[in-house]
Amino acid sequence: IKKIGVLTSGGDAPGMNAAIRSVVRTCAYHHIECIGIYRGYQGMIEGDFKEMGPRSVNNIVNKGGTILKSARSKEFMTPEGRKKAYDNLVNAGVNALVVIGGDGSFTGAEVFNHEYGFPVMGIPGTIDNDIFGTSHTLGYDTALNTVVEVIDKIRDTASSHNRLFFVEVMGRDAGHIALNAGIGAGAEEILIPEEDLGLDRLLESLKKSKASGKSSSIVVIAEGDKIGKNVFELKDYVEENLPEYDVRVSVLGHMQRGGAPTCYDRVLASRLGVKAVESLLDGKSNFMVGVLEDKIALTPLEQAIKGKSEIDMELLRVSDIMST
Ligand code: ATP
Repeated sequence: IKKIGVLTSGGDAPGMNAAIRSVVRTCAYHHIECIGIYRGYQGMIEGDFKEMGPRSVNNIVNKGGTILKSARSKEFMTPEGRKKAYDNLVNAGVNALVVIGGDGSFTGAEVFNHEYGFPVMGIPGTIDNDIFGTSHTLGYDTALNTVVEVIDKIRDTASSHNRLFFVEVMGRDAGHIALNAGIGAGAEEILIPEEDLGLDRLLESLKKSKASGKSSSIVVIAEGDKIGKNVFELKDYVEENLPEYDVRVSVLGHMQRGGAPTCYDRVLASRLGVKAVESLLDGKSNFMVGVLEDKIALTPLEQAIKGKSEIDMELLRVSDIMST
């Protein structure tokens, strides 16, 4: 392997830049060339490439987003699109690829590898932490810290007015952010897609909380929770059934994807980038580089795509006890 291409694809996440920097500098360290591919697979199809030396990634370890930009590419889903991408890589002398993204991006990498035998390595970058084979995806820790910081602020106003706040956080299929940030911010209840708490239990818990003398309450709700009502319907439902509560809703939205990565995400990105490049140089391909029990570990892409990242049920119990 003489030249490695790196791209970011799918939703952006804090720590992607630190991972790009790590890939670029690990290539330089091993005296191989590195090419940055703009806008994910779409840039691969359009030949939007740039040579990247170790100085091209100065001062980005601390920046959110991705300097290579990210995109979703319908064209890469077609064999014709992938053929164009392959031809561009061959013309540019690129002979291996590091893909930083989520499971959709890994599926694209796997399909490409099967079609052309092109060596690929994945680095999990998504705030949702919903990828099998790693305890942490890039951006997850930063998102948790962002959410906790914001809920702390919401709590100030909630307790000044004796209000109940429903805070909706990202996570259509996974409750990792809701559960961990909820515990970290001292939420009374946490609703996640993996568990159906049930409306009755929610009302019961809120009643108990009021009776126990709490002056304010925060309920953290993942976008994809199973309770069957969106956050605004839930507000109406609770106000109808518990008139003693004055409910407000806060949907945190895209702010959760931005901001400077935490130290944890920067260190993780640095470690994953080194391992991704060195694994390719060792002749490995079609793996995702992740972290398991604080050790860097390779998981076949296929498993990373198909496997489910389970929620830690003990955390639900901890959350329950904490809201006593
Ligand atoms: P996020 O978790 O933020 O959604 P993701 O990587 O899962 O990130 P997707 O939009 O699902 O994001 O996928 C990113 C890109 O990967 C797609 O736009 C497409 O170009 C490529 N891709 C996804 N699935 C396939 C597939 N089956 N075949 C080829 N390419 C694919």
